Amino acid sequence: MRNLPKNGTDWTTLKHALDEAKQDDYDWRGGRLPLYVYYLDDDLLRVATEAYTLYFTENALGMRAFPSLKRLEAEVIEMGLSLFHADSRAGGVFTSGGTESIFLAVKTARDHARAERSNVRRPNLLVPHTAHPTFNKAAHYLGVDVIRVPEGRDFRADVPAMRGAITPETIMLVGSAPSYPHGVFDPIADLGQVALERDLWLHVDACVGGFLAPFVKQLGYEIPPFDFEVPGVTSLSADLHKYGFSAKGASLVLFRDAELKRYLRFEFRDWPRGVYSTETFSGTRAGGAIAAAWAVMNYLGEEGYRRIAGIIMETKARLVAGIQEIDGLTVYEPSDLSIVLYGSIDPAVDINAVADRMAARGWFVGRCLDPAAIHLGLNPVHATVIDSYLTGLRQVVLEARHGGEVGVVDERTY
Ligand SMILES: *Cc1c(COP(=O)(O)O)cnc(C)c1O
Repeated sequence: MRNLPKNGTDWTTLKHALDEAKQDDYDWRGGRLPLYVYYLDDDLLRVATEAYTLYFTENALGMRAFPSLKRLEAEVIEMGLSLFHADSRAGGVFTSGGTESIFLAVKTARDHARAERSNVRRPNLLVPHTAHPTFNKAAHYLGVDVIRVPEGRDFRADVPAMRGAITPETIMLVGSAPSYPHGVFDPIADLGQVALERDLWLHVDACVGGFLAPFVKQLGYEIPPFDFEVPGVTSLSADLHKYGFSAKGASLVLFRDAELKRYLRFEFRDWPRGVYSTETFSGTRAGGAIAAAWAVMNYLGEEGYRRIAGIIMETKARLVAGIQEIDGLTVYEPSDLSIVLYGSIDPAVDINAVADRMAARGWFVGRCLDPAAIHLGLNPVHATVIDSYLTGLRQVVLEARHGGEVGVVDERTY
């Protein structure tokens, strides 16, 4: 086991060690990652990094000490509320990520139900089977059950089936905008109808697509309504650290009615140090994450996000066309935004073997199990590597078809 070193080491040596340590990681700057990292270019990265560094030490738990941070946070939340068509009654919270945003939405809905609905003993969430695992994670911590309802053949939430699965103890319906596995929008407008009819909370999980979809729509692509413009949507999560291109540790959870935040807040007094009151799960929070989000949003503006959206959608079109030209492969439809799934329609081409061979060539591979497919989330950086990706893919499919060595199948998908 390693001990803390007896004496310190100078930063130059340590920095060298860190640079060295990275050498064998997948090359995100070179477009080798289809997930985990959202990267445009070094200019944007510098804005996020420098803004983060300026507020590196400040702690967003202590807003009385850092009124500037409070203002930056309020502006980020307001920009989010306006982007997602909320009105003046709405409110939100800046969180550390999609997981915390969803946790807080579920917690708020649970405590709201506890206060307003006396019949609910063991509350449940009703989510499409395609919803992110973090709904189960949140429910696990919060003592809530999750009912996962099979999606339709078009990968979208099956609204009649969800309506039929509502129980007297259902406290929340969920739709994704879009879903992570298949990249499609659930029919949020229809779910909103059900939510209104049955007086239920509807949470829209726009974690992955929230900061991309509005700009794709502005470019003229068809994006269904998914935010507060849909009647019945109660809350929405959207990750700034995904297509918001901010530093990691940044997401928003927004509520149609800021009054609901009363069920979000945690307040405690029974200790010697007086009132402790937070709206987040975290206590100490990185000031840098807020400053970076503020800087990136203002640096890009609508125009910048639209430019990114254009690059992503054009890259996707090139990728899809290229894959469709390869004998034996198919691209799964529908695909509404930036996520592409492709698989094999030829029994002689094992898609897992294709995935292994692509990984061996330095392309980090995400996999979908149902349908069996290779899963990519596109970034602007991929525009520069699509041609070499497709060249590699063509070769790999030929190799897979004609046998030869197949690497160990990696069953991990995430
Ligand atoms: C990423 C993601 C989450 C979880 O967000 P984290 O930032 O990883 O905590 C939730 N839902 C969807 C659809 C996502 O893509």
